[in-house]
Amino acid sequence: MSESSRYQPQAIEAAWQQQWQEQGLHATPELQPGDDAFYALSMFPYPSGNLHMGHVRNYVITDVVARVARLRGKRVLHPMGWDAFGLPAENAAIERGVDPGAWTDRNIASMREQLNQLGLSIDWDRELATCHADYYRWTQWLFLQFLEAGLAYQKDATVNWDPIDQTVLANEQVDSEGRSWRSGALVEKRKLRQWFLKITAYADQLLDDLPKLEGWPERVRTMQANWIGRSTGAELTFPVVDAEGNDTAEAITVFTTRPDTIFGASYVVLAPEHPLVAKLTTPEQAIHVEAFCDLVSRQSEQERTADDKPKRGVPIGAQVRNPANGELIPLWIADYVLAEYGTGAVMGVPAHDQRDFVFARQYELPVRQVIIPEGSDEHAFEGGAWTEAGVLIHSGPFTGLASGEAKRAIAEAAEGQGWGRAKVQFRLRDWLISRQRYWGCPIPVIHCDSCGVVPVPNEQLPVELPRDVAFSGKGGSPLAQLESWWQVACPCCGQPARRETDTMDTFMCSSWYYLRYSDPHNTALPFSRKAVDSWLPVDQYVGGIEHAILHLLYSRFFTKVLRDRGLLGFDEPFQKLLTQGMVQGITYKNPHSGKYIAPADVADPTDPRDPVTGEVLEVFYEKMSKSKYNGVDPAVVIDKYGADTARMFILFKAPPEKDLEWDDADVEGQFRFLQRIWRLVDGAAERGLSLADGAGTPAAVAEALASGAPSGEEQELRRAVHTAISAISDDLDGDYQFNTAVSELMKLSNAMAAHLEASRAALACEALRTLLILLAPFAPHLAEELWLKLGGRRETEQLDSSSVHRQAWPLADAAALVRSTVPLVIQIKGKVRGSLEVPADADKATLEQLALASDIAAKWLEGKAPSRVIVVPGKLVNLVP
Ligand SMILES: [Zn+2]
Repeated sequence: MSESSRYQPQAIEAAWQQQWQEQGLHATPELQPGDDAFYALSMFPYPSGNLHMGHVRNYVITDVVARVARLRGKRVLHPMGWDAFGLPAENAAIERGVDPGAWTDRNIASMREQLNQLGLSIDWDRELATCHADYYRWTQWLFLQFLEAGLAYQKDATVNWDPIDQTVLANEQVDSEGRSWRSGALVEKRKLRQWFLKITAYADQLLDDLPKLEGWPERVRTMQANWIGRSTGAELTFPVVDAEGNDTAEAITVFTTRPDTIFGASYVVLAPEHPLVAKLTTPEQAIHVEAFCDLVSRQSEQERTADDKPKRGVPIGAQVRNPANGELIPLWIADYVLAEYGTGAVMGVPAHDQRDFVFARQYELPVRQVIIPEGSDEHAFEGGAWTEAGVLIHSGPFTGLASGEAKRAIAEAAEGQGWGRAKVQFRLRDWLISRQRYWGCPIPVIHCDSCGVVPVPNEQLPVELPRDVAFSGKGGSPLAQLESWWQVACPCCGQPARRETDTMDTFMCSSWYYLRYSDPHNTALPFSRKAVDSWLPVDQYVGGIEHAILHLLYSRFFTKVLRDRGLLGFDEPFQKLLTQGMVQGITYKNPHSGKYIAPADVADPTDPRDPVTGEVLEVFYEKMSKSKYNGVDPAVVIDKYGADTARMFILFKAPPEKDLEWDDADVEGQFRFLQRIWRLVDGAAERGLSLADGAGTPAAVAEALASGAPSGEEQELRRAVHTAISAISDDLDGDYQFNTAVSELMKLSNAMAAHLEASRAALACEALRTLLILLAPFAPHLAEELWLKLGGRRETEQLDSSSVHRQAWPLADAAALVRSTVPLVIQIKGKVRGSLEVPADADKATLEQLALASDIAAKWLEGKAPSRVIVVPGKLVNLVP
């Protein structure tokens, strides 16, 4: 074999990437009416500057989806862009004095180059970056659509304040320990005037449309449903009474999902932040209430509501009247009631709510049972509250009703008597979008003392970020400190006014980017209705499970609002969603010190020890991260093996939605597989086989079969070819089982190695042609190179329809799948001793004859006739001596 015919990915990959780019092979086609459009989309990355394996897996999966769709004749949109606003750029500005825009653009350029090395079939002409004014101009325009629709508003809100990053965080950006998702700082509470989007106005739709998303993982739909959290119940009003027990003008309204338990209420609890707390607290209790409120203000929401944390509270001295039975009960404040949820007040029913039960036991409040299990007459409260439905007792006119019936009856009575009504409540709250940071999309409004909030007129968009900014990292937004920027004339009255200095949550920018890709160069609108409706919804969206709630929920919200504004004509943005699993690296940890050890520092992986102390290390797989030294740099893998091997390994090692354990030996295995394919095709080319002039196409194969029936070897070859087509087509329908598709490619290449040389040229070419087209989505460079080698591709400067990536996906020939022979197992006295190839249509008598005449029978029966013969057609013959 000559030197030039070795598989050297480094020698071919960059050249093909450049040629595809120059020939516009991945350009998005203009859609004509009736075209079968397909939109394959990866969640766009934050441009940190470094591509990691998690990115690689995500984009390779989407790329295979896009490539397969093209081969199947669809018109494909496969874009890429950058989620480019956010804190890291601003932090770089603070720490190193670099311009955030320039820093971001450098990172984008570097990551784009790294992405291109993977051979992704991305249409770079549609690239966008959310931090560029030609994009964020439209984010601002869309914000004004929300404002005009009454879906954007300002209110004072208690916010999560990150004392390190000095910014407001959304609740979702605070982890379960009350720490910032980014800085790790313990989050504090502050009151600020903030912008919100009214996502709660769409809560019902966002929930009710979830069952339509059949192409989404069930668990993502469940997570969204839980996040939205719809509960049906009632609002009930408890009048506050004075010292003599007479109703005052004040009243406390609670929300409950269990109005049937109101006769069991033994106290009412307010959130410490509830506006009536200060007013209703009695002088004797004031000092305790103040101390308690101070304590709670330092706790995170998660700390306050976690099931395993003790609940604390104090009575504020006032009493309320239970509107159902007239009983006077005490008013408390407690940490577990949050001002932002519901009404900021709940009724305490210890007998029928576990949290109330624990609280009542702790503070010696009465526990009164008003529901009993159906068919029982009492329930002891040793284990806790009885929280199931049942039958009402001690409940006045409602005694004897079942819970469901009682909920309706009590809500109706409350409404009739003016102390309540049935109500649906959501856990979902409005979306806080204000950020007091520089590197974000400016909120395009002006505050005027005379006119109030004035939208920036369309012709003045974009409101550009100023470049002459000092970054100190302290004291809030740099924009608020730049008077020359925020001091403007009111667009309405011309008086001096103040530009809004808050920027938007970056989730705003990422809630519509997939719409912009359909029409990225539009300068009159964010996108045209025609373009967006012809490409969307996205056919296949691929990304991490970490975006299962917020990004997807916000994008769904945007889509529904823009639909209602007449800007697009569909209900849901993403038809199918694939959440790829994590990429895990081998991880070494010293169990005593807790320190992670880099694999390079482990001298003997079969007996891993701490290089300093000699202690035995723990070995396990975990998500790759810098702090655990378990990452694998994609660039290193590509340098060593090429992008095609990296792609094949990632696709083969695990199904796409499952976690993947990085394993160098398996990477090596994929490299050897591609080498075998290279040698197989190279050998065929040296024997003069060629795919030029339609060799190996169905027409050419039909002609060859008409001129002579296939030999046994040819039948084996054709069966392998068409089995592979059928199996891989199935693997790519629906769930994208890339790992089994790659296994099928391996089986096909093995069958070809065995039967190719003994087969006629037309049939050998059919196999070669099929192998390369099926391989093309997985290992695009190798497939193209071998396609060229075999004469399938013409070399030309123009956009080339002869590329392997422009071929049609092969169709399985059912006739070739029929087996003429099948394996028959031979048993001697029930033990398997060997097998025979026998005609598939042989009858019982023939099978018995063939078995008795076999070498296996001769060896094990030693010439004697068997006493018994059992034949199972299509499976086995058992000879009993
Ligand atoms: Zn004005």
